[in-house]
Amino acid sequence: MKSSLVILYHREPYDEIVKDGKIHYVQKKSPNGIVPTLKSFFADVNQGTWVAWKEVTAKQKASFEPKVNIEGEGNYNVLRIPLEAKQVKHFYHITSKEAFWPILHSFPDHFTSETTDWENFKQINRLFAEAACAEAADDALIWIHDYNLWLVPQYIRERKPDARIAFFHHTPFPSVDVFNILPWRDAIVESLLCCDIVGFHVPRYSENFVNVARSLKPVKVLKQQPVDGHMTPVGVALAEPEMTSQLSYKGQVVNIDAFPVGTNPQHILSVLEQPETKARLAQIKSELQGRKLIIAAGRVDYVKGNQEKLEAFDRLLERRPDLHGKVNFVMTCVQAAAGMRIYKTAQSKIEQLVGNINGRYGKLDWMPILLFTQPIPLPHLLAYYKAADICWTTPLRDGLNLVAKEYVVAHGGKDGVLVLSEFVGAAVELPEAILTNPYSLKRMDNAIEEALAMSPEEQEQRMSKMYQTVTDYDVKYWADRLLDQFKNLKHETVSE
Ligand code: UDP
Repeated sequence: MKSSLVILYHREPYDEIVKDGKIHYVQKKSPNGIVPTLKSFFADVNQGTWVAWKEVTAKQKASFEPKVNIEGEGNYNVLRIPLEAKQVKHFYHITSKEAFWPILHSFPDHFTSETTDWENFKQINRLFAEAACAEAADDALIWIHDYNLWLVPQYIRERKPDARIAFFHHTPFPSVDVFNILPWRDAIVESLLCCDIVGFHVPRYSENFVNVARSLKPVKVLKQQPVDGHMTPVGVALAEPEMTSQLSYKGQVVNIDAFPVGTNPQHILSVLEQPETKARLAQIKSELQGRKLIIAAGRVDYVKGNQEKLEAFDRLLERRPDLHGKVNFVMTCVQAAAGMRIYKTAQSKIEQLVGNINGRYGKLDWMPILLFTQPIPLPHLLAYYKAADICWTTPLRDGLNLVAKEYVVAHGGKDGVLVLSEFVGAAVELPEAILTNPYSLKRMDNAIEEALAMSPEEQEQRMSKMYQTVTDYDVKYWADRLLDQFKNLKHETVSE
C-alpha cells in the first residue's frame, strides 16, 4: 500500500538495539524532543513512511535493506537512504554546518562556500525525493524537515506535479541581506516555492523568507494577516505585527505559516515525579548547601553564545566578591559529533574560559563552574532545572530554544528566573523573562544582576504567566494546529 503521509527528516525515529546477535528497531525510549511529535502524525493514517539517512560502509551498502519496521509501530515504515562516510561528511558536516548554518544564524563571517560540494548536496536531496515519490500515494502529504533537504520540494514537484508538499524550518531564517550571500540562493528559493506550505517558528523568520523570495523571484503576495495567538506583536527584537500568509509563484499558491514548537509539559512533570529525579534533586540541593544555582544547558556551538555567557560570569565574580562561595554555575555544553571542524575552536574556547575562571576563583570547598561536556540524561537535567534559581539561556541566535520552555515547566509557575536572549524564537512568546542582548556586555551584566536580586513575589508573577503560555501552547497544540491545516491543504493554482 502506498503511503498517505511521508515525513522526511534527517534523523531516524527509532533506537537500534542488538539482542541475541540480531538488530532490533524499537521505539525511542524518551518521549521528549520533536521526533515523537512528528511520529504522532502517523496516528491518523493507514500507512505512512519516514525517510531518513543511514551511514554505511561500501561493503554494507551492497546488502543494505533500506526498509525497517519498528517493533510495536505498525502503521509506518522507515526508509533509509544509505550514505557512505564521505557523502555524509560533505552533506552534513561541511555543506550544512560550514555553509548553511552560519547563514541561517546570521553569522556571515563564519560562512565558507569553497568547501561545499554542491553536486553531492543535490544528489542526496534527489535521493530523498525519489524515495519519497516511490512511497507516496498520489494525494499523499509529503512533509519535509529542515535546510538539509532544501532542494527536495522541487525534485518532488518535477516527479509528482500534484503532490501536497509541506516544509518546516527548525532553525531561524535570516534577513534577505544575509540569506542572499548563499551562492545557491536561487536554486534554494525556487525549490521552496514548489511547496504548498512553508513553515517557520516565528513570523520574523517567515517574513524574512518572503522578503528573500520577493528579492529573487516575481512572486505575488496574496494574503497578509496580523500575527497569530500568543506571539508578542511589537516591542521585542523579533516581533512582527503582521505577516504574509500566502504567495503565488508561476501560478502555484504557496502558503506561509509561523508557529513555534512547544514542549511536552506532561512528560516533563511526570519525569520530575520519578524517584530517580527526586533523588537527584535532593542530592543536588544537599551539595549546594544553600548556595544559589545558575543553570545553562545546550550544545557547543558559537551561535549559543557560551563564550559570551562565561565572560559575563567572570565579570560578575570580579565585580561581586560577596558572591564568592555563594553561587554555582552548572553549564552543560554537549560536544558536537566528531568531524565538525567548525566546533573545535568553540569547544576549546569554552574549556579554556571555564579553566581560567575556576583557576582564578575556585577554592577547595567551592568551584564556581561545573562543566558537563557529555549530554545529561533528561531526569538529571530536569533535577538541575528544578534546583536552579536562574536559567541563563542567552544564545546569539537560536531558532526557538526549548531549554527556556523546559525550565519554565519544571518550576510549575511558582519560582525561578529565566534570563533569555532577545534573539531566540521563544522570546516572542515569553516577554515576561528577563530579555537581554548577548551582544552587549552591559545588558548581560544588568540581566544577571537583576535575576540574582529578583524578589520571590516578582519571580512568581513572571513565571506563572510564562507557565500558562508554555502549557497552553505545548507541542500537542502545535501538532494539532498543523494537522488541521494539513487536512485542508490542497495543491492550488491561480491564474497569473
Ligand atoms: N538537552 C539534554 N541534555 C543536555 C543538554 C540539552 O537532554 O545535557 C536537551 C534539552 O533538554 C533540549 C534540547 O537538548 O530539549 C536542546 O534543545 P534547544 O531547542 O534548546 O536547542 P538545539 O540543540 O535544538 O539547538
